[in-house]
Amino acid sequence: MIVVIFRIGIDDTDTSSGYCTTFVATLLLEEALRLGFEIIDFPHLVRLNPNIPYKTRGNAAVALILKGEIEKVEILFKKFEEICEGLIDEKADKPNPVMAFYNGDQELLREFYNRCLVSEISIEETMGLARKLGIKFLALRGVRGLIGAIAAIGANLDEFTYELLAYRDPNDKGRERGLSYAKVLEMDRLFKKYTFHNIDEGKKRILITPHGRDPVLVGIRGSDPDKLIEAFKFLGIQAQRWLIFKTNQGTDAHLKEAMKNENFARYGVIYEEAKIKDRPKVMPGGHVILDCLIKGKHAEALVYSESGAMNKLARYLHEGDLVRIGGGIKEIGASKMTINVERIEILSLSDVYLRKRPVCARCGSRLKSAGSGKGLICKNCKIEIPFEFHILTKIERPLMEGQVLLPPPRSRRHLTKPIEGNYQGIRKEFSLDYFYSKFLFPQKESVVNLS
Ligand SMILES: [Zn+2]
Repeated sequence: MIVVIFRIGIDDTDTSSGYCTTFVATLLLEEALRLGFEIIDFPHLVRLNPNIPYKTRGNAAVALILKGEIEKVEILFKKFEEICEGLIDEKADKPNPVMAFYNGDQELLREFYNRCLVSEISIEETMGLARKLGIKFLALRGVRGLIGAIAAIGANLDEFTYELLAYRDPNDKGRERGLSYAKVLEMDRLFKKYTFHNIDEGKKRILITPHGRDPVLVGIRGSDPDKLIEAFKFLGIQAQRWLIFKTNQGTDAHLKEAMKNENFARYGVIYEEAKIKDRPKVMPGGHVILDCLIKGKHAEALVYSESGAMNKLARYLHEGDLVRIGGGIKEIGASKMTINVERIEILSLSDVYLRKRPVCARCGSRLKSAGSGKGLICKNCKIEIPFEFHILTKIERPLMEGQVLLPPPRSRRHLTKPIEGNYQGIRKEFSLDYFYSKFLFPQKESVVNLS
């Protein structure tokens, strides 16, 4: 009997129900406990490069960190296959569930994870890495999920937040989750210090529930696992299972990584200084295009109308302003790139002046040119000034140096760090207090309010 600490990475490319990966992970963790494995840390819910088009919704993968008999890992693989059987839609090409196992040095996968945050990784490279490090995996259809599964194993989560995910019976495919905006708003008010992205106040929208038919009831994000349980309890909804994950959500992990290296390639994440070259162009539909120069390269930065205040404020940018733009490269050519903007930080603002002719001292009307080289004239009073000049008025703009522009919560990336407070996760040891399953712990009192 050999006891080891190991990591299981799971990725599932289902697009219609983005939380399936966490649900599969929850079921697998339940099985791991039945088999006598010890849980070493919160499961890791890892978001990767949000610009990859074939991603699962939200591009999430999960890693479980366990300790136990290596001989029993085979049973976990079998259980994974069993769980996923029901998920695979033969008619669609999704999902393509992959489970990977690794008990080597996590450090060796750190760079791989970091690159998965900011660039597009090929499956060939990933297969090569798996071979080199002896990562065992099971791919139930395509192998694309291996990228996320290995990245999740490699995610070091130096900075992290938590998310409590609660699930209903997976056979219950209703859309109703029994939560009103008023209730979630009340929860948000009470737990504002510890939870984030609960609601979008502008559109009065609930952000803690998915809209699809997946088994997730709610996902509450925040800094303290105990407060997440309190917030969940406050909502008073019934769940079959709930589990708290440690995650890179709300940490700007991708932008921090982008600052270290240039990722000037298709789908690359950038966080670079940009010099504004021209007046922002407002397109029909309200999208704003910022013409700028990034490391000597011409760029068109797109600020979509869905970006709310960021879109409105970006219109006040001006030639000569220096900003730092975070986002993904949509297209890149030899002379130009197009960027989808997700964050703008204002570094320095140029002085912008309005240049006007002076007004007449007697009647107050604007002076006109009296002809080339002939000075100015008031057409009312016929008063002449023998030379031409202008008055410069500095334009005040609703922008400040150091200001960060973000879309409203409803349009943010999972990885986006909220600006509403500090939600960096506090370190806590995992315990079974952070996991509830009515099947695994039938006697344990569910924290949900069943009244
Ligand atoms: Zn006059």
